[in-house]
Amino acid sequence: MRIAHVASEMAPFAKVGGLGDVVLGLCRELQTQGHQPTVVLPLYGTLDRTVLGPLRRLDQCDSTVGDSTIWSTDYEGLPLWLIEPKDGSFDRPSIYGWPDDVERFSQFSQAAWRWLARQPLDLIHCHDWQTACLTPLAAGKMPTLLTLHNIDYQGACAPEQLEPLGLLNEDNCLRAGIRAASHIAAVSPTYSREIQTPLGGRGLDALLRSRSQQLSPVLNGIDTTYWNPATDPLLTSHLDPDGPLPFKWANREALSNRLGLRFDPSRPLVGVVARLVPQKGIALIQAALRHTLQQGGQFVLLGSCGSPEIQAQFESLQEGPDLQLCLTHDEATAHQIFAASDLFLVPSLFEPCGLTQLIALHYGAIPLVRRTGGLADTIFDLEHEANGNGFVFDDPTPPAICATLSRALHRWHHTPQDWTTWVRQAMRQDVSWRRSATTYANLYEQLVDSN
Ligand code: ADP
Repeated sequence: MRIAHVASEMAPFAKVGGLGDVVLGLCRELQTQGHQPTVVLPLYGTLDRTVLGPLRRLDQCDSTVGDSTIWSTDYEGLPLWLIEPKDGSFDRPSIYGWPDDVERFSQFSQAAWRWLARQPLDLIHCHDWQTACLTPLAAGKMPTLLTLHNIDYQGACAPEQLEPLGLLNEDNCLRAGIRAASHIAAVSPTYSREIQTPLGGRGLDALLRSRSQQLSPVLNGIDTTYWNPATDPLLTSHLDPDGPLPFKWANREALSNRLGLRFDPSRPLVGVVARLVPQKGIALIQAALRHTLQQGGQFVLLGSCGSPEIQAQFESLQEGPDLQLCLTHDEATAHQIFAASDLFLVPSLFEPCGLTQLIALHYGAIPLVRRTGGLADTIFDLEHEANGNGFVFDDPTPPAICATLSRALHRWHHTPQDWTTWVRQAMRQDVSWRRSATTYANLYEQLVDSN
């Protein structure tokens, strides 16, 4: 199958969150399975071109809003088409957060369609609101699949903003995309159900219910080539045949030295890596942090704060030998925290799929999660379920997370052999894209056949 993935992010060079990981991981696995994916991205001014192959200018593509230049290159053998609008609207220090985001990404989607319409392709796969409004442009001409990674972000706008695309009376990129896509995917079975309810639908539930026959859940995986504890270039010590314990200790020591944590193997290390936005359960993270320190554990957090208020809350916490906070986005520190932590927290209020609990398993950090969205589909309680691989709580309240944290810390201290077994099992679990990429490929085939 020849598939164009049109997206606003791709790891590692244009990544804000999980979307970037998904685009890279899924496309690489599709390549492994014999398909031909090409990723279509904006040519961001901040993009690190040193990791890409040479850029070749392919074409000039006009759109109603302005001209764009199409470039071709590759990232480690994965072909890319990069679209550069003439007005320089992607030459900014960050990918999102600009008042004209809807115009920038709708213009990108339109230029992408003008280019893709002339290419020999079987299908176009769009991701989230940023590229959703390509699907009405392609309707009736080429099959499209739209994956919903997080419907909290919808690209809401004034109707005039989408008029240049020929979309009249539309005030929401995601809604326009859901209406027009040949098929829709949601990133986990539980999220797929949640978004069809008034509580989880964010105003789109009725539309999603009306399209439920064309809505399929496809669980995300992780790119196990990029996230590989045996070779990860961002770690100083790697997994070897001696098993997980030397790997965990060596990385714990390296991280402690780097961040100024006391290296003390008699204390458990609890880790968090997240965008610190309300979705991620800010109050629950803070309650767990205090509880861990009270229980004699150590806590390390890496998070880019979503607002000045959240930033101020975390900055007011007193760091020390058992608590380190890195309030930034840093790829290397993220990898090192996954490798060093004993327990990894994901107490989200909602979570479409979540990748960090899967990375944590793969790097031998036992996940402690709230039962919601994709967390409910991937993590099962070690003390309550036969297929257990983590610790799970339900209520989004400090007492609920602290009680579960106490259970986990108790097991770390008192049944270390069980803990080692769990770490071994976690690292062996298949969290790769293999199965889900096959599910996507089967969907592509059905869509092409029925077109
Ligand atoms: P979301 O897409 O909502 O941010 P996911 O769990 O799907 O959540 O994906 C998060 C991805 O972003 C993971 O690869 C995680 O390691 C990474 N990440 C999140 N916050 C940071 C940070 N502050 N620094 C580096 N990487 C981060």
